Amino acid sequence: MKVNKAEIVISAVSEKQYPKDRWPEIALAGRSNVGKSSFINKLINRKNLARTSSKPGKTQTLNFYNINDAFYFVDVPGYGYAKVSKKEREKWGKMMEEYFSLRDTLRLTVLIVDIRHKPTEDDVMMYDFLKYYEIPVLVIATKLDKIPKNKKATHLKRVIDTLELDSEDSVIPFSAETSEGKEHVWSYLSNYLK
Ligand code: GDP
Repeated sequence: MKVNKAEIVISAVSEKQYPKDRWPEIALAGRSNVGKSSFINKLINRKNLARTSSKPGKTQTLNFYNINDAFYFVDVPGYGYAKVSKKEREKWGKMMEEYFSLRDTLRLTVLIVDIRHKPTEDDVMMYDFLKYYEIPVLVIATKLDKIPKNKKATHLKRVIDTLELDSEDSVIPFSAETSEGKEHVWSYLSNYLK
């Protein structure tokens, strides 16, 4: 996919603010600091459009990016950061529920996990939440460059087993450092953008 245009359209906190074009949409979710911004930036060839390592605790919003005037990437705020207050967590939960239950242009959610580690309880909860809403999920096992090549298969199996991945969902190993997996990801996503 050649990305000619990638711009943020709105940071939304509620449904009233979502774009109304009805373009297809792909959401991106993951634990704070997992490498979500790096993943988005690498896919769209931008250095810093999605803010990397954005500070936990600041306003949590759904960031809608117009890609090529054809579809949206929606950057969902990261989860699993221990120091977030209960009130903030509740706000996050409400926003997520509103988005995932109502957004009928949402085609797929990309769930980003760290290939080095067993998916956390929060990762499993996020996956179950998406499956509850019957949303197709593509799991990205990122930071592939950080494990030896001969461990790749074992680590991928651990991701699949821990999430109890549905047979219709897939995992793609990825590295924002080496771009490994990038073409595979785009060809996978393009099937959901037709
Ligand atoms: P976010 O909070 O999920 O958006 O995470 P970031 O994209 O800011 O990444 C968190 C840290 O992990 C940063 O220091 C990144 O440089 C690093 N990082 C992200 N992806 C990769 C990767 O594929 N390989 C390596 N080696 N580091 C990565």
